[in-house]
Amino acid sequence: MNPLGVHALVWVGDWTEPSARLAIESSRETGFDIIEIPLLDPWGVDPVMTRRLLEDNGMQATCSLGLGADTDVSSEDPAVVAKGRDLLAAAVEAAHGFGATHLCGVVYSMMGKYTAPASATSRRHSAESMAWLHEQCTQAGIDLSLEVVNRYETNIANTAREMVALIERAGADIGVHLDSYHMNIEENGLADPVHSTGDRFRYLHIGESHRGYLGTGNVDFDELFGAVREVGYRGPVTFESFSSAVVSADLTPMLALWRNLWDDGRDLATHARAFMAERLGD
Ligand code: MN
Repeated sequence: MNPLGVHALVWVGDWTEPSARLAIESSRETGFDIIEIPLLDPWGVDPVMTRRLLEDNGMQATCSLGLGADTDVSSEDPAVVAKGRDLLAAAVEAAHGFGATHLCGVVYSMMGKYTAPASATSRRHSAESMAWLHEQCTQAGIDLSLEVVNRYETNIANTAREMVALIERAGADIGVHLDSYHMNIEENGLADPVHSTGDRFRYLHIGESHRGYLGTGNVDFDELFGAVREVGYRGPVTFESFSSAVVSADLTPMLALWRNLWDDGRDLATHARAFMAERLGD
């Protein structure tokens, strides 16, 4: 079966050593293979401590992040693009430092609401930066995938087909990162994006329509997992859920985490792992 992961924000809102220990140990105890560590502030993640805790627990790590307005590599302003690349370079260095296998998320754009369509210059800056980032990741032995997110979180690519076009423009072997929460908003069903991305499909987030307990919202998981099994996808499948019960200073406004969908991360994660494993056929 696919390696199963859980986002660190199910457990903790920061990455101090006690938080990192709690998150990594809890992920292991609830049966996951992978913990997905956010690198919104890559300078704030200690790679030596993180690697030690991962090794102590026999856990693998992946990383994700979204860029802010001041680090948006799709900005028309080359100075902002340069700042974005500095942050992404630091993220790759941190990820490499603790042995992460994958880097994904909204690394091609700001993660937030735009007030206008992306300009030709913005699209070019984004594609050029992804070609550059792919180089950095390849040198570090990290697999890069770009997350397709809904219209309120980027103006560059809201569907899998748009993301494939961006990757083709970048001209590099970059993966498509799909997320059921976003697919549920933007795509023509949940099977089509899995089929249309083909070999480029390399990372999957599983989230409910309200980002709480799986199976209690509107996402058609039978259609999604049916397609995932049909195409023989073998990459990571990571559970992503957010609640105001666990607060990250950076992510709370980015993801609009205004309401409490759960209090008990352990119960949530245990339920999610069983839900995903059952549908992936283990
Ligand atoms: Mn996601």
